[in-house]
Amino acid sequence: MTENAPPLAGVVGWPIAHSRSPALHGHWLARYGIAGYYIPIGIRPQDFEEGIRALPKLGFRGVNLTIPFKETVLGMADSISDRASLIGAANTLTFREDGSIYADNTDGIGFLESVREAAPHWSPKSGPALVLGAGGAARAVISALLTSGAPEVRVANRTRQKAEMLAEHFGGRLTLVDWARAGDGTDGAHIIINTTALGMTGRSPLNIDLSAAPAEALVVDVVYNPLETEFLKNARARGLIGIDGLGMLLHQAVPGFESWFGRRPEVDAALRQAVLPE
Ligand code: NAP
Repeated sequence: MTENAPPLAGVVGWPIAHSRSPALHGHWLARYGIAGYYIPIGIRPQDFEEGIRALPKLGFRGVNLTIPFKETVLGMADSISDRASLIGAANTLTFREDGSIYADNTDGIGFLESVREAAPHWSPKSGPALVLGAGGAARAVISALLTSGAPEVRVANRTRQKAEMLAEHFGGRLTLVDWARAGDGTDGAHIIINTTALGMTGRSPLNIDLSAAPAEALVVDVVYNPLETEFLKNARARGLIGIDGLGMLLHQAVPGFESWFGRRPEVDAALRQAVLPE
């Protein structure tokens, strides 16, 4: 790294063209007048390690990672945060002065911050949570809930075996609910989170019976394209508070920007507008 070159960061994936991260970080760079750049970087899976190792030498201070590299990067990182280890994946790399690679995962805190922003009265400790799904987003959400004191985390997933593997991973601290009876898991739940891909543009909607959910339950959808999913519409129609997935996407980006560009950025309405799916 050199003091004579502008700071660089980016997002690495394959494919990469549809990432919203360049718009997100580009907005902050312009807003704070930082003479740096954040770019999409496509690296073929077979070239991943070599490509990542080259980035610090080119002036990159770090990168975000997306599909398909979030898990594989743990095999090459020089140090890994506790939360990335717990989740089993990293979305944020910081390159140290000596070229070593620090891997972190900010999806979980992005989730927590987005819920706190939308519902400041909420605390993970306040009651049971129901997580729908058992993929990468679910791991981040579940680890954030467990490490911040949720008294009970229920998980329902279409493929039960994956939910069982997750329960083992988290040391038996999850309560499994059958996917076919996921609505039962809403009974007494203070927060209900869709982490499945259902509801994304081009996919079927998520249909979960919310009639047993308490009136004060929060309903979160981590899907952000579209912002207003059928699941959220159903929740709002029942009078429940609905929270879309854009806030999580924006908040997960804060630690990376701060570590690469030296300024803690704000998540506000202008950023939301800049990053909204086209
Ligand atoms: P993933 O690891 O592939 O997991 C997909 C999950 O969706 C699995 O639990 C899978 O169940 C479930 N699923 C897929 N098709 C289904 C169907 N037809 N019926 C029932 N369940 C189905 O994906 P991911 O990385 O966790 O991402 C999931 C979603 O979260 C995506 O929409 C992604 O864009 C979003 N996301 C948002 C943020 C954010 O910042 N807002 C961050 C990360 C991810 P099975 O195990 O049965 O296959």
